[in-house]
Amino acid sequence: MPFEFQGKHVTVAGLGVSGVPAAKVLHGLGARVTVVNDGADERARAQAAELEALGITVRLGDGDTLPDGTELIVTAPGWKPTKPLFTAAGQAGVPVWGDVELAWRLRRPDSAPWLAVTGTNGKTTTVQMLASILKAAGLRTAAVGNIGVSLLDAVTGDEECDVLAVELSSYQLHWAPSLRAHSAAVLNLAPDHLDWHGSMEAYAADKGRIYEGNHVACVYNVADKATEDLVREADVEEGCRAIGFTLGSPAPSQLGVVDGILVDRAFVENRHKNAQELAEVSDVNPPAPHNIANALAAAALARAFGVPAAAVRDGLRAFTPDAHRIAHVADVDGVAYVDDSKATNTHATEASLAAYESIVWIAGGLAKGATFDELVAGAAKRLRGAVLIGADRALIREALTRHAPEVPVVDLDRADTGAMLQAVQEARRLARPGDTVLLAPACASMDMFTNYNQRGDAFARAVRELGA
Ligand code: ADP
Repeated sequence: MPFEFQGKHVTVAGLGVSGVPAAKVLHGLGARVTVVNDGADERARAQAAELEALGITVRLGDGDTLPDGTELIVTAPGWKPTKPLFTAAGQAGVPVWGDVELAWRLRRPDSAPWLAVTGTNGKTTTVQMLASILKAAGLRTAAVGNIGVSLLDAVTGDEECDVLAVELSSYQLHWAPSLRAHSAAVLNLAPDHLDWHGSMEAYAADKGRIYEGNHVACVYNVADKATEDLVREADVEEGCRAIGFTLGSPAPSQLGVVDGILVDRAFVENRHKNAQELAEVSDVNPPAPHNIANALAAAALARAFGVPAAAVRDGLRAFTPDAHRIAHVADVDGVAYVDDSKATNTHATEASLAAYESIVWIAGGLAKGATFDELVAGAAKRLRGAVLIGADRALIREALTRHAPEVPVVDLDRADTGAMLQAVQEARRLARPGDTVLLAPACASMDMFTNYNQRGDAFARAVRELGA
């Protein structure tokens, strides 16, 4: 239902990437906007000054008090649902929307449908693959949302699109109650961000919201039953189909892999007898198992939108992954060096380790409460050796002692700028020709680096020094 903003008291919770544009748009629609923000640092003060110049009220240093008269809150997605502001809103019967809900409500009636993607890992890659496929089909599209491109800009801007490829985080979904996508995919579900959501059930339920009201297809991962359960629980439009993707041979209403070929047994005539060849596994970059799963999910959403098979192939061929996601850096003395610095949790690292036969594993950093037993036990057979760095490396070392006692481990007790070079040198000593030295830390990077990009760059630099 259209929401009338004229004269409404709207509180925007949180300055920053989503708050500032939201405040401006709402102000432009005639709302009486107050922005509340916890911090009052220099950046916040500069942003406040910019908004105040437009006539918007900003309260710095108090994000917990509900301003009098508030009729709607538009929150930054990261704000925890347990914050006092939301408790007060609940008591006062004030609705709370996130940035995605706002964008959804503000889109034009004839605007582009959304093909939406969520999951614990692989969201960005899948959304980029999807956009590449849609472009190959000649459609006007953009990869937007949690990927770093504002949905609000996409729906209120001048650029016309035929369809949007939308990445959604669990936080954004939590605050997006009325979103209804054309079709959506949940790639996988592993424990993450549980401190925010409160429990695994709550996290899964927020992810599952992406399927609510889907029109054409709910895409799930056959290998991850939790994603299929979410489809079953969703209330969808009449005629909307459940479509699985699998690395195995596909059943009817699934996409899968047969003899190195990605095939579609969902969006074909007579799917009980027929299958449509989409692309070869070697068209997927990189052709690691988890990434083939991402490609199948992207293909399923594109096919749900009516994209022809040839465009799936062309789009996948044209796609190059972002940096630090299983990026092949160099071969030195017959050993491949691979940078998956973006593998910042155990679920991602598990996928990464599954992609290679014999690995010298560089890992460690900030564990964020994770445990490593399952990860190490699953990969033990493929580990030639391990080099551990970072604050929580002892946790990984202990898991290696328990589950892979024969694997040689080098424990690096240094966090200076030379640490990564030494880690790579140690890895080289452990590696034999045909092995892969894999940086897949299973941890956040902030104990030693600014972010995962800097960590991956340090790795690549060290590898190049080896080869020089
Ligand atoms: P997200 O946007 O969900 O963080 P990315 O596409 O940026 O996902 O990938 C993040 C990391 O997750 C990659 O470095 C890779 O190690 C891992 N990854 C990617 N796809 C998958 C998948 N389908 N399953 C498990 N791990 C994955």
